[in-house]
Amino acid sequence: MSYQVNEKGYYGEFGGAYIPEMLYPNVEELRSQYLEIMKEESFQEEFKQLLKDYVGRPTPLYFAERFSKKYNTKVYLKREDLCHTGAHKVNNTIGQILMARRLGKTRIIAETGAGQHGVATATVCALMGMECIVYMGAIDIERQAPNVARMKMLGATVIPALSGSRTLKDATNEAIRDWINNPVDTHYIIGSVVGPHPYPDMVAKFQSVISEEIKTQLLEKEGRENPDYVVACVGGGSNAAGIYYHYLDKPEVGIIAVEAAGKGVFTGESAATSALGKEGIIHGSKTLLMQTEDGQITEPYSISAGLDYPGIGPMHANLFRTGRAEFISITDDDAMKAGLELSNLEGIIPAIETSHALAIFETRKFNEDDVVVINLSGRGDKDLNTYIEYFNL
Ligand SMILES: *Cc1c(COP(=O)(O)O)cnc(C)c1O
Repeated sequence: MSYQVNEKGYYGEFGGAYIPEMLYPNVEELRSQYLEIMKEESFQEEFKQLLKDYVGRPTPLYFAERFSKKYNTKVYLKREDLCHTGAHKVNNTIGQILMARRLGKTRIIAETGAGQHGVATATVCALMGMECIVYMGAIDIERQAPNVARMKMLGATVIPALSGSRTLKDATNEAIRDWINNPVDTHYIIGSVVGPHPYPDMVAKFQSVISEEIKTQLLEKEGRENPDYVVACVGGGSNAAGIYYHYLDKPEVGIIAVEAAGKGVFTGESAATSALGKEGIIHGSKTLLMQTEDGQITEPYSISAGLDYPGIGPMHANLFRTGRAEFISITDDDAMKAGLELSNLEGIIPAIETSHALAIFETRKFNEDDVVVINLSGRGDKDLNTYIEYFNL
């Protein structure tokens, strides 16, 4: 059995493409070509060159000595925070903009919640001279002013989603509507391993550069390619998919997924999808999602804007259902403490999303000689205001 996607676009019982008929031609065009395009030598060359010269890859694999000493195990940090734009998201947007060009598209649309994916998309559109339209909930536009300003500086048009709760899921609905109306010239860049097949697999493959690099780097440092554990926070699940990818079918490597418990898993203010979610369909894919008795999507909550998505990608739903991955949920308070601790112990201020992954060491014990690799998915600059308010800095 493999934990990779199968030919029909499923991870176990999760995944697929549950889309309105009018979207079928767009998704089918992508599905029928993405693997061949990604295999082309010229595509791989251009992708790798941009990851190197523009994004700054390979990102370091850093042995966190003081942090390791504190928790009595060997902790390595994969430094995605050092990527251009400050997080892993750009690995995917670079891949998808190259895909869009191969498909002959000239116009890019995207959805964004906190604005991080919007910025990563606007960045690559500027790089390629492509038109960029980002849909963003009206409430998020108010909450995330600096990222809105960044997108505008990068030449993108930010369109507010005014329906529903005026947040991420409404922005996604608007983006889908746009795509239906512009099937010929437009590519929709989805920001995580969610959405209809082939998006989860395509995004996972673009992010898989993370675990590909770890194999070489760990061999250099530890004399082996495989760590004992790989750990990542899960919003939709793209940074996690990236660090798991080459280890999915290696049972000797433990997989740990960290979700946001918000104020507590059962407080009604949480984003712990594996604990609270039930099977359902969101944004074109069958997966686990937080919903009411009658199937309405529940508004998620987390102190970190990047983790408050009501679903998880189908790869992760399958990792949960099969028991291949261990799922841990971390509260706002514990994440914030861990973010401050890493800053103090290592001189690295992490994104609050990432702080959730760092917080597991308080409760999850590892052996002294275990090698644990954490995906340091992003840097904390964007979260400075939240840190300031929380700690009264
Ligand atoms: C967006 C984001 C996340 C969550 O998204 P995934 O698709 O789950 O990776 C995590 N960390 C950072 C820094 C982010 O910007």
